Amino acid sequence: MNDQKKFGFTTTILHSDRQKPIEHGSLHKPIHTAVAYGYRDARELADVFQGKRPGYRYGRQGNPTVSALEEKITRMEDGLATLCFSTGMAAVGALVQGLLRSGDHVISSAYLFGNTNSLWQTVQLQGMPVSFVDATKVEAVEQALTPATRMVFVETIANPRTQIADLEKIGALCHERGILYVVDNTITSPYLFRPKKVGASIVINALTKSIGGHGNALGGSLTDTGLFDWTAYPNIAETYKRFAPAQWGLAQLRAKALRDFGGALGPEAAHHLAVGAETMALRIERESASAMALATMLSDDERVAAVYYPGLSSHPQHAIATSLFRAYGGLLSFELKEGIDCFDYLNRLRLAIPASNLGDTRTLVIPVAHTIYHEMGPARRAKMGIAESLIRVSVGIEDTDDLLEDFRQALDA
Ligand SMILES: *Cc1c(COP(=O)(O)O)cnc(C)c1O
Repeated sequence: MNDQKKFGFTTTILHSDRQKPIEHGSLHKPIHTAVAYGYRDARELADVFQGKRPGYRYGRQGNPTVSALEEKITRMEDGLATLCFSTGMAAVGALVQGLLRSGDHVISSAYLFGNTNSLWQTVQLQGMPVSFVDATKVEAVEQALTPATRMVFVETIANPRTQIADLEKIGALCHERGILYVVDNTITSPYLFRPKKVGASIVINALTKSIGGHGNALGGSLTDTGLFDWTAYPNIAETYKRFAPAQWGLAQLRAKALRDFGGALGPEAAHHLAVGAETMALRIERESASAMALATMLSDDERVAAVYYPGLSSHPQHAIATSLFRAYGGLLSFELKEGIDCFDYLNRLRLAIPASNLGDTRTLVIPVAHTIYHEMGPARRAKMGIAESLIRVSVGIEDTDDLLEDFRQALDA
């Protein structure tokens, strides 16, 4: 397979490892468990340390199995290069450790994955101001800008309420002002959407979710799209300027975040995630079709008070989703009418499992306010639009009719 030719999404993933020679012709990149890498000539080791030649030195800073996965993600995102981490949160935290300094200001969408929200609260306690804005409106981002703003952070489709950021306009604003634009692509995945298309500087993926897809390994990644001009970024230390400017961002992230904080992805997890990624497009097609059918069924049912799914024409950002995403994905959430207890409802489901994960092959459900958003308290939940009865559904790859029947019988009972 010649990398110059553009293949489709799945073909590219399946044949990614073969872009480079693989040991013994193995069709999977082998799992390399060695922590250290030996060199016959000690000068070679020194050159690797100094970045003068490619190579591995110590497992925390890089591993061949992990590198193969990084190259795969780079191809999925059409990016320049990727850095993997032990979890999605380690990748988000790396932004703080690797790219921000005291005196900086961050603008974040108010509609966020709960743990990312919690992380930004910590960052504020440590003295760096973070403004939370309604990212469905570019004006809200623009109004929050200060001369110290270094980074704008958004999610494509917010988990769990499915608000969609004003992705294109925020991208244009960040480009005009020379601000780093970070897009968490987890809920869409690179199959449904490439944030590079709207000018993202860095793309985050929680590999744990749709990319790995089987709920059997944790992982996260940061992809540099190549669009950001690092020479204009004031927080790059002199030592990383020995590389070509396009590499400055990831070079500093690799050292300051991955090396110094140690959230390295293990080779076994990287293998699981890489194998899972091979079927991502097939899974997401099925999940999107089932989610659409389920959202439609629920929104037609009078016992359901509200359904949040970008595929519904009633969704406030339906037009944006239609123009930017290949399909609407497998995440939806809904509220039951008053008088129907959400715990009783969940306990009547026979297939969908009460569990906290997304993008699994199995359909998972969770009462949001009582679990993942519990620590936040009612005031903050209300601000984020999280009703007490909100149920999040991560639609899996079960047969669509079986799923519809399950959610229907639980309402009927
Ligand atoms: C799950 C998730 C994360 C964090 O990923 P982990 O692997 O669980 O740490 C970050 N962002 C979004 C949008 C997520 O859904």
